[in-house]
Formats: sequence, structure tokens, C-alpha cells
Amino acid sequence: MKFCSNCGAPVTLKIPPGDSLPRHVCDACNAIHYQNPRLIVGCIPEWEDRILLCRRAIEPRYGLWTVPAGFMENGETTAQGAVRETLEEANARVEVASLYAIYNIPHINQVYMLFRARLLDIDFHPGAETLEARLFTEREVPWEEIAFLSVRNTLDHYYADRRGGEFKFHLGTIERPRPGGRAS
Ligand SMILES: [Zn+2]
Repeated sequence: MKFCSNCGAPVTLKIPPGDSLPRHVCDACNAIHYQNPRLIVGCIPEWEDRILLCRRAIEPRYGLWTVPAGFMENGETTAQGAVRETLEEANARVEVASLYAIYNIPHINQVYMLFRARLLDIDFHPGAETLEARLFTEREVPWEEIAFLSVRNTLDHYYADRRGGEFKFHLGTIERPRPGGRAS
């Protein structure tokens, strides 16, 4: 951030009185511009033994598969956000069930919140940000073409839970991938 969104004057990165972290502070109007993590909400849409995945028509990770998810908007609940994203990305209608996973991704200042959801029908088709929307059984899931580690981890847990007969809530943290190393 270079300029104040309040008055347009330059900002300086400094620790405001009583605070503990550097913030962008306006040199003219003294507005403090806090930056906080962003919440990504989505769901695993289920239909019998299959789940709905979307192939991304946008960067990052163009052409790879993910569950319907996106940035939460002001004025909506997390579950409403998951329903909206599923409608936008796959024109699919879902009823949200339980919260399934939360992933902290501190190095990119994001938190993922994913629900299990029931598809109300299978009359879906790709939205503007989606190349293809499809139902997959576990064996059909394109494991090597999953867009995000958070989604890959969630689906790993999902199928392990399903085999175990019980869906448990998962809380995890995804660390910055090491250069040249494989992220875990
Ligand atoms: Zn200002």
C-alpha cells in the first residue's frame, strides 16, 4: 500500500502507539490501514458416492481441479458464501451440511473454511470461472491435477473418513512450501 484510501496522501509503515505490529499509517489524516487475513469459503458437494469438482478457467492454477470455493463477501454468512460460490462456479444448488475443515495458510494470509454439502440436483454446468464441472467417485478424482494443497488435504481426509464410516472435523495449517521440496 502506497497511498491512503481515505484521503490519497502517502502512507508510512510504522507501529502506531499502543500497537505491536507495523501498519500503513496516513501521513496526512493519520488513518491506520489494517490488513487482516482473508476467508475463503467453499464446500464438497456430494451426490451419492460422488463429489462435484470444478476445473478452473482462471489463474492461479488454470486448468486444474478444485472444490467450489472463493472469497467470502461482506454481509453473508460462511455457509451462504459456500452456497453462492457453488452456484457461481458450477451453477449447482447445494444444501450445506456440517463444517468439515479449516486450513490456516499463514504465508499467504488466508483461511480456508470448507463444508460438506448435499447437491439438490445434478442439473449443473460450468460457470464463467470454470472450464468443466463433473462428478467424481474416489477412484476417478484427478489426484495429480488438484489445484491447491488445502483441497488435496481435505479430499485425502474426506475419503479416509468415509472409509472409516465417520466424518470428523479437520483443523490444519499449510506451511510455505520449501524451495525444491515437496510440501506436506
Ligand atoms: Zn489519509
